[in-house]
Amino acid sequence: MTEYNPWSDARNRHDIIVGVTPLIDEQGWWLPADRVILISELQPAGVVRSAALAHQLAHVDLEGSFVVESAREGVANPSDIEAAARRLTSRRFLSLADIYDGIADTATLDGHELAAHLGVTPVVLADRIRYADDDEGAAIADVARLVEWTDTVVERWACGQHLRPLSDPHVKARSMLMVA
Ligand SMILES: [Zn+2]
Repeated sequence: MTEYNPWSDARNRHDIIVGVTPLIDEQGWWLPADRVILISELQPAGVVRSAALAHQLAHVDLEGSFVVESAREGVANPSDIEAAARRLTSRRFLSLADIYDGIADTATLDGHELAAHLGVTPVVLADRIRYADDDEGAAIADVARLVEWTDTVVERWACGQHLRPLSDPHVKARSMLMVA
């Protein structure tokens, strides 16, 4: 079972405001100008919403990083930011030991069952296996061989980064926020 609780993490960050609000197209937003995270209330509460918050907190921590700066300057692909956020999120939720322990505890190799046991979404588990560090390549390959995906991992992930502030009419309109 994962020990990472993104809601506690967010509460301990006194310079970040987290709101749960209707967002139609995306699971979550990070608005660096306001230091505001918005999580879509259209997602089920529980592991799905927690994963969305953890993902946005990863974006917060990637501010100022080489990958984010390069993408904003147009010299790197914005999808690199997404990959970095997904990598960081999956690492916060799961160590490789957690995955091995989960397999031992449940005697299941099914990725979806394993993710449920570990308290994460299948996407988080799949991302943890997908984004290996150089020094854990062999161990990751071992885990990747073990875990079976009998059902497709649904990746309807969409995430918004809005550099303009929430007060901007364009941003406000996209959020559906009932702000006067
Ligand atoms: Zn993202």
